[in-house]
Amino acid sequence: MRLVQLIYCSRVVTGVHGTAITSIVDVSRINNARDGVTGALCFNANFFLQCLEGERGAVNEAYHRILRDPRHEGALLLRYAEVPKRQFGDWSMGYLSSQAMTPELLLQYGSNIRFDPEQLGAEAALDFLLDLKARAIRLREAA
Ligand code: FAD
Repeated sequence: MRLVQLIYCSRVVTGVHGTAITSIVDVSRINNARDGVTGALCFNANFFLQCLEGERGAVNEAYHRILRDPRHEGALLLRYAEVPKRQFGDWSMGYLSSQAMTPELLLQYGSNIRFDPEQLGAEAALDFLLDLKARAIRLREAA
């Protein structure tokens, strides 16, 4: 089996927020569990940043389905790599809210505190999502 990891970002279409995001995450969890795809989805007012990982065919199929979705536009592929193991294996689609996106974290990866995933390189995009995952887990444990 070829295990791959794909990371892309896209622009949120005007009017997509709240319940639309909840329904994207709910459908993603069902479909991804069915297809053996894991990953994380991060959202703020302007951008989505998502990692999909799993068997190559399953990830490619999910990505092509996602690209057709009218709730976002301007998808930019940031990373596509064969990987030895999953890094979001415990999440069928972990949702990373902007709550964990602190100014310190944003400054670590960019020139200012704006979330602009279009500026991230392949490794930075992965590291950013992993950092965000760690922060989200800490926030959840502290709640
Ligand atoms: P159907 O449910 O049959 O829908 C047909 C078309 O309508 C598709 O193009 C679909 O994208 C679109 N659509 C569906 N619901 C709505 C709606 N409420 N408003 C507007 N258009 C709609 N799906 C996954 O399976 N895994 C993921 O990880 C995943 N991540 C996503 C990340 C983002 C940023 C977005 C925007 C969507 C994501 N989705 C994901 C949802 C995905 O795009 C599809 O909607 C979903 O997989 C169902 O696909 P389908 O072909 O069965 O579509």
